[in-house]
Amino acid sequence: MTALFGKSNNLMRMRTWYGMTAVIEIRNRSLHRAGFGSVLIPHPPAVNWLLRFGLSDDPYYKLSTIHEFGHFQTLPAIAVYSFAALGWVLATHRASLIGIIALLIGIHATWEMLAELVVRFHTGPLYTRTYTGISVIPRIIFWSAAAAISIGGWAILLH
Ligand SMILES: [Zn+2]
Repeated sequence: MTALFGKSNNLMRMRTWYGMTAVIEIRNRSLHRAGFGSVLIPHPPAVNWLLRFGLSDDPYYKLSTIHEFGHFQTLPAIAVYSFAALGWVLATHRASLIGIIALLIGIHATWEMLAELVVRFHTGPLYTRTYTGISVIPRIIFWSAAAAISIGGWAILLH
């Protein structure tokens, strides 16, 4: 697996369930890129940094790749959720700028949880085995923070 990522410009192509091919590049531990075709969005892998805390390169790359892919697999669901939420907010005139920003941040946190759920379902018992001997605290921080931010977005919006 390491060899796959050994080169600096090695792109992974994975086909989503809705037929589009996602392109993922886990360049290193501080830069990931993901997108469709030649449109790749670079981003600092903050969530993967937290979730993969303590893992060696091999499982880091493997689980991070599936996590990025999980974002694509759940993109239609999160898009429907975003449009429904924003549509409802605008229709009910609850739209304050702070509220909408909080909602968008909350939706992103929900998306992070969905992407990691894809990793869990995709890897099954391997997920638990991979983390044997590694502190659970970073993962507890991730799940509780992401859940709190998801709910917090709505709480700020509806306040
Ligand atoms: Zn993510």
